[in-house]
Amino acid sequence: MSTTTTEIARFAFVRPDDVAGAVAAGAAAGQGGRFWAGGTDLMLEWQRKQRSIETSIDITRLSELRGIDVGPSEIRIGALTTLAEIERAAAVHPDLETLAAIAAVMCTPQTRTLATVAGNLCNASPAADLAPVLMVLGARITTLTAEGGRELELEDLFAAPKQSVLADGELLTHITIPLGGRRAVRYGRIARTVVDIALTLSACALTLDDQGRIITARIAFGSVAPTPLRAPSGEQLLVGKTLAELTPELLAEAATAAAGDANPIDDIRTSAAYRRHAIRVLTQRALTEAVAQLSVGGDQ
Ligand SMILES: Cc1cc2nc3c(=O)[nH]c(=O)nc-3n(C[C@H](O)[C@H](O)[C@H](O)COP(=O)(O)OP(=O)(O)OC[C@H]3O[C@@H](n4cnc5c(N)ncnc54)[C@H](O)[C@@H]3O)c2cc1C
Repeated sequence: MSTTTTEIARFAFVRPDDVAGAVAAGAAAGQGGRFWAGGTDLMLEWQRKQRSIETSIDITRLSELRGIDVGPSEIRIGALTTLAEIERAAAVHPDLETLAAIAAVMCTPQTRTLATVAGNLCNASPAADLAPVLMVLGARITTLTAEGGRELELEDLFAAPKQSVLADGELLTHITIPLGGRRAVRYGRIARTVVDIALTLSACALTLDDQGRIITARIAFGSVAPTPLRAPSGEQLLVGKTLAELTPELLAEAATAAAGDANPIDDIRTSAAYRRHAIRVLTQRALTEAVAQLSVGGDQ
């Protein structure tokens, strides 16, 4: 009879009651400190010994970091808002419809009740599903350390696979999405099974000004580069155009240019060649749907 022994790495556990306590704990813990939100990524890393944790700072009691607020010029999403709450966010504001649709196909229903939006972003996986759609929504993140706060574009958060630019003890507190203009947001995602991470994901957002011209065009990808990625080569072809000028040919050209910004790899899930092909097709479809939505009056 054989016996299997599992070695459990131990860590200190801190549970602050408020944001000030959390950043103080983060500063005290230094390099070995990790914020614990839903724990759905962290638990796996800990089990697989991918990254050491010396101090786990449980932030689940920070109720001020939960929920979605809509103001006159922006939507504010608290860091600890769960994927299950994001799933219902289309009822909060129509611009969140696509974010909600993506959250609804992530993980499993049980995991979505624990997993948070900040955990998905700060884990910095190239396949983080919420990142591309938040990037096309123009999202900014706000963070806090014991020294003070800062705000940065979401796309500047990602440094390398599973590596963000956040310093030790830097807490993401909320995400801000600017409002304004008539905006259409669409996405396409391919995964092998309903619980698997995406093979590729493309999101796009087109915004019209009062004169009926595209004032901003954003395209972003997941799972086709070392980090979630903006695709500016495709965007540039769309800005300044009227809806009538956004012909199927131009959208195909923009999708091809955008796909050129991708830098996919072969891995256990699929090949780089498939990812490059799929991201072009998904982008062309998403752009076509966004133009169709704006043509019938948009979401707002
Ligand atoms: C079965 C399963 C299926 C999954 N499917 C998907 C999927 O389809 N798509 C997908 O994108 N992901 C998927 N995931 C990954 C994971 O569930 C998500 O990334 C989730 O959103 C992580 O959130 P969390 O709150 O659990 O993060 P945690 O595990 O608590 O934290 C993740 C990382 O972020 C840091 N962190 C958390 N909050 C903050 C904060 N406020 N400030 C600074 N740092 C912070 C932590 O220290 C840690 O490094 C899946 C996971 C599982 C277990």
